[in-house]
Amino acid sequence: MQLQLLPTSHTFFTRFSLSSFIHRNPNMTSGSNSLMWFRKGLRIHDNPALEYAAKNSNHVYPVFVIDPHYMKPDPNSFSPGSNLAGLNRIRFLLESLVDLDSGLKKLGSRLLVLYGEPSDVVIRCLKEWDIKRLCFEYDTEPYYQALDTKVKNYALENGIEVFSPVTHTLFNPVEIIEKNGGKPPLSYQSFLKLAGEPHWSISSPPSTIPPIGDLGNLEVSEVPTVEQLGYQDFQEEYPDPPLFKGGESEALRRLKESTNNKEWVATFEKPKGDPSAFIKPATTMLSPYLKFGCLSTRYFYQCIKEVQQEVKNHTSPPVSLIGQLLWRDFFYTVGFGTPNFDRMRGNTICKQIPWNGDDELLAAWRDARTGFPWIDAIMVQLRKWGWIHHLARHSVACFLTRGDLFVHWEKGRDVFERLLIDSDWAINNGNWLWLSCSSFFYQYNRIYSPISFGKKYDPTGAYIRHFLPVLKDMPKEYIYEPWKAPLSVQTKAKCIIGKDYPKPVICHDDAIKECKRKLAAAYELNKKTNGVVSDEDMKKLRRKLVEDQGQGNDSRRLKQKLI
Ligand code: FAD
Repeated sequence: MQLQLLPTSHTFFTRFSLSSFIHRNPNMTSGSNSLMWFRKGLRIHDNPALEYAAKNSNHVYPVFVIDPHYMKPDPNSFSPGSNLAGLNRIRFLLESLVDLDSGLKKLGSRLLVLYGEPSDVVIRCLKEWDIKRLCFEYDTEPYYQALDTKVKNYALENGIEVFSPVTHTLFNPVEIIEKNGGKPPLSYQSFLKLAGEPHWSISSPPSTIPPIGDLGNLEVSEVPTVEQLGYQDFQEEYPDPPLFKGGESEALRRLKESTNNKEWVATFEKPKGDPSAFIKPATTMLSPYLKFGCLSTRYFYQCIKEVQQEVKNHTSPPVSLIGQLLWRDFFYTVGFGTPNFDRMRGNTICKQIPWNGDDELLAAWRDARTGFPWIDAIMVQLRKWGWIHHLARHSVACFLTRGDLFVHWEKGRDVFERLLIDSDWAINNGNWLWLSCSSFFYQYNRIYSPISFGKKYDPTGAYIRHFLPVLKDMPKEYIYEPWKAPLSVQTKAKCIIGKDYPKPVICHDDAIKECKRKLAAAYELNKKTNGVVSDEDMKKLRRKLVEDQGQGNDSRRLKQKLI
């Protein structure tokens, strides 16, 4: 059977112009079986892949594959969850699937849940159900690129049409990179210039979905509960009920709530937000819904645009709400066009820096035991809520890397990747590169103080008292630096530093000096070698840094000084 690869701008698909991956089979009759493969994009609204499947088929099989590798409890991980994902995110995903299932049921269908390695399972489905059309949202993450190549190759070889539109982002990263001569733009401003205005229209939700055909011999289940996956014992560590209920219905409800406040949307200025606001956080908190595509970014964008048209004056990118969505697209584009974007070695846009691999310091940071209440409170919020404010992310990422502990950004990235509900490959890596001064941003002299930064927003320490109740009675004079409180004050506050709450793992003033010294030397080496730093160069730099510091005044020594 002959297959035709259509240019993405083919007239038939002008509504998805230049934003689709389409392999059409010209001999295909409409009315055959389609498989709608959900991965992200867990929604009915603005879902061109679903709309296409529903319009052109006799039977539609809506499928989600649970990869046990992603979901199975891992008792050896540092927090409840699987090997790859914390329990907060697993629970959010399952709730999103339940909501999707109920949305599909309203349209005459339902979600078919299967277990196994996703590409193997999908290929089995294609065979067993005699599928002629495979529809799924295009994904730029390396994991999905590899998965999708395998499935697309099978489909192509077997005359199956593939419809895979780019709908997770506002722009198609491929197009932006092409416009920029094959390289991703490395600054937000150049990205904005290349991107211009998006040119899609929102896809209308299908009014009905063709029925599911014969299921043959494949084992199909309902969406499991967290308990059914084996997570009975872990509930108490998390807020109950969870702060983020997964699913499209909740996403649309929250979006409406946010955009109803037109003044707030129009005057939104990200840097002015208060990272310590926890009763009513300063931003939309929609990131988990965008991550899983419970909320269409395009629909979100359109709603903000509508508000802006109604309100006379509004803020602009990079600080506006639209600006935030564009940051998302920026990191998706750079991530897609940069080999080894998620690591330091082999990543041409990443400065080569001799970070340490101090697992003791890493664990203190991860487990909220640094002795700096601002940092520890944020890390508790991260673990409990699976979400923290952007500037809180700045604070702890800077502290772990270039500000204080000089631990490798990849290690911090891994902790975020596990604990965040909104954990997103492109955005998380992009921001860790940024915060560690490895890429995009290079002013390593500008440090977030673990003491004064939080105090600026929250002088009485309400945020710290909430997330670190052990410090709840510490007077406000000492809440950011409790080790300075006289013993009598500590006793009265029922919190002895070094016993009830840790002493600081480093001396901040010494640590910043050390970090700056190392970064200056690393930047110099990167400049000298034009960014091509060999293993040998790196070894030499490490040796030089030890020699220069004479007595070995590194973070480990600082740590010993204080404990
Ligand atoms: P809002 O301010 O309401 O913004 C709306 C949306 O815009 C967000 O939901 C998000 O999709 C996007 N957005 C906002 N800020 C950024 C940004 N700086 N870069 C890219 N997109 C942005 N965001 C993630 O979604 N997933 C991550 O894994 C992630 N990791 C991060 C790691 C670090 C070290 C830092 C500093 C930031 C990270 N961010 C990440 C970006 C940002 O902090 C979150 O997107 C934001 O705090 C989510 O809250 P919100 O939905 O209320 O954001």
